[in-house]
Amino acid sequence: MSESKGEPPKKRFPLTLDSITGKAGRNRAATSAHTYSTQTATQNASRHLPRAISAVPASSSNSPSASTSLPGSASAPVMASRTMNSPLVSESVRKSMVKRIEQQGVKDKVVLAAMESVPRHFFLEPGLASQAYIDASLPIGYHQTISQPYIVARMIEVLRANSRGPLNRVLEIGTGCGYQAAVLAQVAQEVYSIERIKPLHELARTNLRPLRIANLRLHYGDGMLGFPQVAPFDGIILAAAGMQVPQDLLDQMSVGGSLVAPIGNRNQVLQLIRRTAENEWMSENLEHCHFVPLKSGTLG
Ligand code: SAH
Repeated sequence: MSESKGEPPKKRFPLTLDSITGKAGRNRAATSAHTYSTQTATQNASRHLPRAISAVPASSSNSPSASTSLPGSASAPVMASRTMNSPLVSESVRKSMVKRIEQQGVKDKVVLAAMESVPRHFFLEPGLASQAYIDASLPIGYHQTISQPYIVARMIEVLRANSRGPLNRVLEIGTGCGYQAAVLAQVAQEVYSIERIKPLHELARTNLRPLRIANLRLHYGDGMLGFPQVAPFDGIILAAAGMQVPQDLLDQMSVGGSLVAPIGNRNQVLQLIRRTAENEWMSENLEHCHFVPLKSGTLG
């Protein structure tokens, strides 16, 4: 992937690709910040203990009426039909995957523990399950992919490190197969995830059912509009790349909250946006990345 160079000009939101020209490189710390005022947000990273997936109670009272909640009465994980059918084997390869993610620069132990607890092979079709723990994005159908494990961990790490308080309510745009949503649910109190392609929304429900994650709600719709019924959010993650972050999403951030999004077309950069006051957002370019495109509307 090529690097873009030059100092970023200061701009008001919405940001476009023009404004994203800071030096960036994978696994490199932020080198440029779009500053909209001298005020900075306090950076108290929340430090939740991740909950074990199997220990999550199977009910929640916080489901918005428009969302599709995960059934609470699902059975225990069934792995027999999967290629990686030994829990011990999957656990050890998952540990290796987490070690690699750590070597790539992710330091947050809570995030690493969350990555270790979610069986990524549950989110892939049986033919690809044996590749579940390599550090790559993989196809999930409908021209979409499950994100690379490193970038999943990195985005959540950035979100945690830049939230003023604990991550109570988090929104993900682009559920896809549901993997990142499951990881997010280990570190946040409530997670809402929106998918615009109905069969993928349904696939995610199927994938997630055996994991019985009670604090995760899936919603079929256009994530570019956000989820006003349950806003504001302490954290927002976009799992698909647009040329700018939609204003609706900026408006649905809580003050002190943060948003991580890939921005761009071919040459994408991971951008962190913090809402530092009611009418003030600050953005920073982190590193190059590669995501499927953010699209408006829904596909039934
Ligand atoms: N979160 C996934 C990655 C999914 S790929 C993971 O765990 O690996 C990105 C997803 O974003 C695709 O499924 C795509 O359909 C979805 N997407 C793109 N634009 C969207 C939008 N406006 N609203 C909701 N989902 C969107």
